[in-house]
Amino acid sequence: MYFDYLERILKARVYDVAQETPLEFAPNLSRRLDNKILLKREDMQSVFSFKLRGAYNKMAQLPSDLLAQGVIAASAGNHAQGVALAASRLGTRSIIVMPVTTPEVKVNAVKARGAEVVLFGNTYDDAYTHARQLEQEKDLIFIHPFDDPDVIAGQGTIGMEILRQCQQPIHAVFVAIGGGGLISGIAAYIKRLHPEIKIIGVEPVDAAAMYQSLQAGKRIRLPQVGLFADGVAVREVGVETFRLCQQYVDEIILVDTDDICAAIKDVFEDTRSILEPAGALAIAGAKAYVEREQITGKTLVTIACGANMNFDRLRFVAERAELGERREAIFAVNIPEAPGILCRFCECLGDRNLTEFSYRIADSQEAHIFVGLQIKNRADAGQIVQNFESCGFKTIDLTDDELTKLHLRHMVGGRSLRRPQ
Ligand SMILES: *Cc1c(COP(=O)(O)O)cnc(C)c1O
Repeated sequence: MYFDYLERILKARVYDVAQETPLEFAPNLSRRLDNKILLKREDMQSVFSFKLRGAYNKMAQLPSDLLAQGVIAASAGNHAQGVALAASRLGTRSIIVMPVTTPEVKVNAVKARGAEVVLFGNTYDDAYTHARQLEQEKDLIFIHPFDDPDVIAGQGTIGMEILRQCQQPIHAVFVAIGGGGLISGIAAYIKRLHPEIKIIGVEPVDAAAMYQSLQAGKRIRLPQVGLFADGVAVREVGVETFRLCQQYVDEIILVDTDDICAAIKDVFEDTRSILEPAGALAIAGAKAYVEREQITGKTLVTIACGANMNFDRLRFVAERAELGERREAIFAVNIPEAPGILCRFCECLGDRNLTEFSYRIADSQEAHIFVGLQIKNRADAGQIVQNFESCGFKTIDLTDDELTKLHLRHMVGGRSLRRPQ
């Protein structure tokens, strides 16, 4: 089926509930990256994400008799809040099915916006199936989080605002991808008017459903999906969003948890606002792109798309941000058990700053140490490995090893054991 997205976006109704958010210059990040970085502040919407644009437009486009039947959605996160708010503004009933594991704060936030909450199943998939069943039984209208032309068009109003707000030529727009509704809407609008502007998707490396689908030329269902950036933890992208991404998206950049944490910190330094992990993906992607392409003096737009941060996560984010900045590297070093060996090890370290140290005797011959060291850049880590090796210590660079980082901090020792109560 053919949809004229330019027309749908121009006719979209979102401003009854959504703000036209600022497109803000990020001074520190721009200086560091030597490019002009602009943040589209969707974290400033009343529900702290862009999701109300799509949800409201979808409902506002329904014939009034259908709207009056009430709506239903499945979500544990931002979509739930968008649907609840949109429904209450339009004076209709909304039911949100959430997994029973949903934190109570999120359940209460959705109830506070006037929705009825049904807790069902352990996973999003279970909740989704149940919602589709209730849709039939109770004659409700299902509001999909991304795979619907009216939802896509609602998110597309962000693209419209960007072109209006930014007067100079834009090199690229960076957009987080979950199911693909946000990027599809933005790309459909911008590519139609300015095909030279690159549209670059960003996904976590462990939740890259769109990347894998584009590679394969068909939708791929991920057997597992990383949950750190919960706003984009989607197993399978939409039919329509996949079609639009095939048509319009120039490339997808993958980033890891540390990159995301570093991006949260970057945005905090420039704005004093804290994005949720999915909300900072686009910024992490822009950083990786600048590093790879070695571009300077370009205008890069990033969508800061959400701020529903779980407060308890902040400690983890703060710790991991350093690794994401590539200012710290972690090594496993084998050293023989011998008198004076630690002294030799220290000599070998030179004047580098130690950030982590734990020592384990493996047997009478050998000990393992885990060391964290401050580094200047990623290449520096390679230098350190060579250094240790030339001192006769077998060394492995563990900086990119997810398990090590989790366990080193929390089990072997290190800063996380200092738990202020
Ligand atoms: C929903 C959401 C996304 C992903 O949007 P899709 O349309 O599913 O691709 C990204 N970030 C945040 C904060 C979200 O809430």
